[in-house]
Amino acid sequence: MIPAAQDAFHHSPANCDPGAIHRGFRLASALATTVFSAVCCLALPRLVAQGASPAASPAATHGISVANMDPLVKPGDDFYHYADGAWISRTEIPPDRSNVSVFNALDDLSRKCTDAIIEEAAKASAPAGSDERKMADIYNAFMDEPAIESRGLSPVKDQLATIAAIQDRRQLSSALGKTLRADVDLLNNSTYHTSNLFGLWVAPGFHDSGHYMPYLLQGGLEMPNRDYYLADSEHMKEIRAKYAAHVAAMFRLAGFSDAEARAGRVIALEHSIAEAQVSIAEIEIIEKADNLWKRYDFAAKAPGLDWGAYFQGAGLASQQEFMVWTPTALAGEAALVASTPLETWKDWLAYHLIEDYASFLPKALADERFGFFQKTLSGVQQQRPRADRAVILVNALLGDAVGKVYAQKYFSPQAKAQAEAMVANLIAVYHKRLAALPWLADSTRSEAQAKLDSLIVNIGYPEKWEDYSAYDVRAGDAFGNVWRYGLWYLHHEVARIGKTVDRHEWCMDPQTVNAVNMPLHNSLSFPAAILQPPFFDPDAPAAVNYGAIGTIMGHEISHTFDKEGSAFDSKGRLRNWWTQSDSDHFNQASERLAKQFDAYEPFPGVHVNGEQTIDEDIADLGGVASAYDAYRASLGGREAPLQDGFTGDQQFFIAFAQNYASKMREATLRNQVLTDPHAPAQYRALTVRNSDAWYNAFNVQPGDKLYLAPADRVKIW
Ligand SMILES: [Zn+2]
Repeated sequence: MIPAAQDAFHHSPANCDPGAIHRGFRLASALATTVFSAVCCLALPRLVAQGASPAASPAATHGISVANMDPLVKPGDDFYHYADGAWISRTEIPPDRSNVSVFNALDDLSRKCTDAIIEEAAKASAPAGSDERKMADIYNAFMDEPAIESRGLSPVKDQLATIAAIQDRRQLSSALGKTLRADVDLLNNSTYHTSNLFGLWVAPGFHDSGHYMPYLLQGGLEMPNRDYYLADSEHMKEIRAKYAAHVAAMFRLAGFSDAEARAGRVIALEHSIAEAQVSIAEIEIIEKADNLWKRYDFAAKAPGLDWGAYFQGAGLASQQEFMVWTPTALAGEAALVASTPLETWKDWLAYHLIEDYASFLPKALADERFGFFQKTLSGVQQQRPRADRAVILVNALLGDAVGKVYAQKYFSPQAKAQAEAMVANLIAVYHKRLAALPWLADSTRSEAQAKLDSLIVNIGYPEKWEDYSAYDVRAGDAFGNVWRYGLWYLHHEVARIGKTVDRHEWCMDPQTVNAVNMPLHNSLSFPAAILQPPFFDPDAPAAVNYGAIGTIMGHEISHTFDKEGSAFDSKGRLRNWWTQSDSDHFNQASERLAKQFDAYEPFPGVHVNGEQTIDEDIADLGGVASAYDAYRASLGGREAPLQDGFTGDQQFFIAFAQNYASKMREATLRNQVLTDPHAPAQYRALTVRNSDAWYNAFNVQPGDKLYLAPADRVKIW
């Protein structure tokens, strides 16, 4: 079961350039998304957001995009192509992208807006130390390729010398500790990958959600997850052969002798780390993550690593309690520190350093990294323009500083008020549905209602903004600005441990096209950037707004009660508040839905993993059900007027399926199936199969390919 829920969508790691950017992981991913022509954020024509050729789009319309549909497809046979077929056939994935979708079209718009904000800051020659000056310095340093080139590897010289000087396990443990960053997020953003030995997440405690605790997660691999090292398919074998050549090339380009031999040893070590790691499906089982280790437990439970030296190196020497999310992996990896030759670990450290920061080092290294992580793993054909990557970088490192200006400029108080009203309507629907659910025990029902009552809903932007004054940004220091960000953010997070939790905090910037449920805060956040057409348009019919953003809002609310939500009570504490019979019913229904998704087969022999995607699939199901009710309630007993010949109910379901218009390169889609807690977009659109109203709206009958007998339609919320 999945971490709470990010998302309407979240970027698959396949799209990402994980590299060294931490909180901005998701933004770094935009390094691989599409560019559209400049459009003003405030008056975004719907078709520009969805189409691949804005120039050919008609003027702004408000409602579903008929131009994106394929009326020749029978809705009951293939609803995804019915709603999105014309868009799919006319849309090409640009050569510098791994995929294209409504989400990344809006990402691009958001980037255009932040582009303007950052350019303005760059021109303003703001006073030293100000956020504007930091934006300018990060941007300009990254843009100055000749300076980066002329410095060669000197920015990492000190780090490489420190690694080369390691003489024993104690020094090795300390060096490994120094790589720790606050770079994972287990319940909000589902960021499970770190190439460092372990990852740190600072969040409200499982048992004391009023105070922040440190959580430790497995790490240590450069490729996206353990399957890349262990899976037996021809496809993966081919990737591993290319990875071996890539690692050797990185060593060679960085001036190391015996590049092939070093690469061989590093990959063998990563293979052992992969064997010690647990799967993503297991990471998502919250109960397995509830392991409170005292500082002295580490030596006994995970011998091999010198934990004293490790925590000293990480700046956590005085911390006495940790939550260990993946205890068997920690133990396995710690054992490898003792059993693997010191020289291999030193090569591993050097390679990881160069790999993670290659984008900020000379072009030969940056290109070699792109060639493997973007081209081979995601199918992206060419790098995005450098200026795009510079804007993405500034957004990743100074998200709140940019977001503050973005929210002021592009998110009106009226839009905020309307979106708040929609969420309130959806919460009212959930109250009603919970009251009427026959399978919930009364005690469960009342705790669910209490969770709804205490749910915090953040719309648009945070009330408090990040303070970047301690983040040291320097002109002309592309590598250093990213390096010091990682350290600044680590210290920022470590300093919060033990402090009182701010339940109103955000884990996403206003300019991010996404939404999130934070279970330990019992809060939802909908950033300004997702509250735009085609998801949300104040001038569109209610059917369309509820079908588009309403289903996303309903999705996030449903995470409050799903398998993961059931693990956290109304105070955000880890406490299962369901009865056994509630769980039994839920699990039974979940299994039926997982089977529906298991049957989807994007490539011959490659199936969606229903167990991995179930929590998100259930959230989509709840999103459609609740948004449909809220939409019907908004009609006040009347029928919606026809628009473009479609009834209100038809518009609702089409708008939902149009959220998921998406095209992915094969490598990216394969990666998503393996690593993403969300099913591929085309299958999420088919959630409608479980809604009786969909059958009525499109007259879907037995014999149609998507038809499910009433008894087979899964209903949970
Ligand atoms: Zn979700």
